[in-house]
Amino acid sequence: MKVLKFGGTSVANPENINKVKSIVQSSSKEKLAVVVSAFGGITDILLNTLQQASEQDDVYKSGLEQIEQRHIEVIKALIPVHNQSAILSKVKSALNILETLLEGSFLIGEITPKLSDKIVSYGELLSSYIISEFFKAEGLDATFNDSRELIITDNSYGKAIVNFEKTNANCKEYFESDQHQIHILPGFVASSNDGNSTTLGRGGSDYTAAIVAAAADATLLEIWTDVSGMYTANPRLVKQAKCVTHISYEEAMELSHFGAKVLYPPTIQPVLGKEIPIVIKNTFSPDDEGTLITKNTNGGGKTVRGISHVGNISLLSLEGPGMIGIPGISKRFFETLSLENISVVLITQASSEHSICVGIADEDVDRAVETVNEAFEYEMARKKIKPVIVEKDLTIVALVGDNMKSHQGLSGKMFSTLGKNNVNIRAIAQGASERNISVVIKKADVKKALNSLHEEFFEENIKQLNLFVMGVGNVGSKFLNQIRQQKKYLKDELQLNVRVIGISNSRTMAFDENGIDLNEWEAVLGKGEKADKENFFDKVNELNYRNSVFVDNTASDEVANSYPNYLKNSISVVTCNKIACSSDYTLYRELKQLAKKYNAPFLFETNVGAGLPIIDTLKNLIASGDKVNKIQAVLSGSLNFVFNNFNDEVTFHDVVKQAQEEGYTEPDPTIDLSGIDVMRKILILARESGNQLDIEQIENEAFLPQESLDTNSNEAFFESLKKHENGFQELFKQAKDADSKLKYVAQFENGKAKVGLQKIPKGHDFYNLEGSDNIVLFFTERYPNQPMIIKGAGAGADVTASGIFADIIRIGNF
Ligand code: ADP
Ligand code: ASP
Ligand code: MG
Repeated sequence: MKVLKFGGTSVANPENINKVKSIVQSSSKEKLAVVVSAFGGITDILLNTLQQASEQDDVYKSGLEQIEQRHIEVIKALIPVHNQSAILSKVKSALNILETLLEGSFLIGEITPKLSDKIVSYGELLSSYIISEFFKAEGLDATFNDSRELIITDNSYGKAIVNFEKTNANCKEYFESDQHQIHILPGFVASSNDGNSTTLGRGGSDYTAAIVAAAADATLLEIWTDVSGMYTANPRLVKQAKCVTHISYEEAMELSHFGAKVLYPPTIQPVLGKEIPIVIKNTFSPDDEGTLITKNTNGGGKTVRGISHVGNISLLSLEGPGMIGIPGISKRFFETLSLENISVVLITQASSEHSICVGIADEDVDRAVETVNEAFEYEMARKKIKPVIVEKDLTIVALVGDNMKSHQGLSGKMFSTLGKNNVNIRAIAQGASERNISVVIKKADVKKALNSLHEEFFEENIKQLNLFVMGVGNVGSKFLNQIRQQKKYLKDELQLNVRVIGISNSRTMAFDENGIDLNEWEAVLGKGEKADKENFFDKVNELNYRNSVFVDNTASDEVANSYPNYLKNSISVVTCNKIACSSDYTLYRELKQLAKKYNAPFLFETNVGAGLPIIDTLKNLIASGDKVNKIQAVLSGSLNFVFNNFNDEVTFHDVVKQAQEEGYTEPDPTIDLSGIDVMRKILILARESGNQLDIEQIENEAFLPQESLDTNSNEAFFESLKKHENGFQELFKQAKDADSKLKYVAQFENGKAKVGLQKIPKGHDFYNLEGSDNIVLFFTERYPNQPMIIKGAGAGADVTASGIFADIIRIGNF
């Protein structure tokens, strides 16, 4: 004999019930017990309706109507017309009793557990009856049997305890005597010794099926549901979760105990002793392999088999000096909880014996606090024990696997993965079987925790990076295009799944939790909501994705000021905006420290020399123990362009104008021409070499007349250039006479930095610098005479975008 159980979704409507019929028909021709749940959602509606009735709220009647409609709809769709009236009248008379029971609750204004079980049992009683009539009408050799006549329990309504002796005897007798091939049974329901309806706990139809399978010595228990087996994590929360094809009873029990709802935890117990295999299959994809649960598995070569989580948990801690070394406190504590029928999901005790901490369901917490405080009143009054401390709204996340005991370092890996993602761990427990390591975390962090643990333990190869990009102008749009083009390469070759989740310009912002389609980001952004930097941050924080990266492609100081918020939430920051690193030294230090403390890289390679690997090289030199003695550099693409094109045949004004028009200068050209931009860059290099320096300390030998520097509009600035043309021509002439070229040079030596225009003689490394190229010479202890030189295009949207890209990849490898 075989037992098949179909869950709520599998029997939610006529179409699904037809699928169930096909599965049953194509099953073996041996005797089958088919256990069914209530039609999907009906149990919840019944419980809600009862709640409303007991609150004397008239709306309960609409719940009742809904229940009636759902059942009648199924009958009309599945049962041939000539059979319908008998079945309809039976169902209606059951619904009349249900109505009377609800009316009773309405009139008295009360629910009792006994009444609740009586009412909720109608879900399974009706579904199983209707399905059995449908099967018969379809010519199957089927019969209905009321599980309440087979499964006998005590009268702990809501989650009754099974009397296996009576139940096993009843089942044996029934299945031996009834010769139909298919036996349809309602799941979830049972009856007490004195004949009242009881239930086996929410999700309990799985348990019904297991009880019947064990009692009737079935060869197999099939659980048919709406997923293709037991997954490495809840597939609704972790998209990458995979089906575990073979798992042990203990592993399955542990996973379900910690929240893998696909199997009701007590289900394993009855079949375990008889070693009846369980298979979990998908009603909507019956050809999928599913999960086989048996006694021994080889663990599939894996240590961690699954990650599960239970929500709505509170931590209850009892602590105080009076607990140390005194035997019996734990015993009293647990006894007190047990007498109140409060089940403890997780236990930790500090090794100092100074505190005991347990995880219990949120709904039990008020009762628990009251009863524990009462039980330890004497000790609390004498300050030997503090009043119980409670923390609510938590979730337990557990790693489960039979082979975990023989592997070291799993908990370390678990904690560091959570730590890197800024998930705070409130408590830790490891079962004595070492089959399970559990942590208690905040509810808001669950999705992130599950996904980052899943990535760590099951997707060793692929890492997901979630980008939030602010600024999609020249550089930002190029950057998005580069990511679009390289997406496949990144995945295939670097095992990085780079997704852009949010984008913003100064007008609008848009988010897509599944990743914005980068072919359409402009349209998506166009339809976005009004841009707001604070709301943008709030959204990034609220989404709470693992490996989140904030990318700043703006030149805004407001955006730069928001970096600490990102870093403090373990969100990495990549920026081409120089403001943060070149303003106050304390801000620069703070950002570096936050990055370290919160394990979130803060990268700004493009602040100096666009895409050239200048800062990264400097970091590597320093990390390997080198020391920078001197830096000499030409760092302004704009000024290079200007001085490479300026001569005695053109005017300085026209060249600067051209540079501005071709996008080689900032919109305000004085930022480049005054040397401020170069000062910022050498400042950053000096700081990155380990020096404490501020921009005011940098000497700037300005070549622009003060009058030009003081102008307050672009027009006035260009006018003043015209006026001083002679002076510029004089600079050119002096250089030409000395067989030199004019270059705007930055220098750092002996703790001092300066920038200014210099005449560079032939043969010097800077002499042949073309176009907008940058060059940096690092004189270090290892490169004392012949410096390390980095040279190449140091300006332009494309190379800047690729520099940002390189920082993103660095984070991917972090
Ligand atoms: P049924 O009504 O068929 O009994 P349930 O809703 O009780 O179905 O259980 C199936 C659901 O369990 C899935 O839809 C899924 O959301 C949830 N679930 C939680 N954890 C897991 C897991 N590790 N593997 C598979 N499903 C899981
Ligand atoms: N119908 C019950 C519930 O929803 C039992 C089950 O489906 O397993 O909890
Ligand atoms: Mg279920």
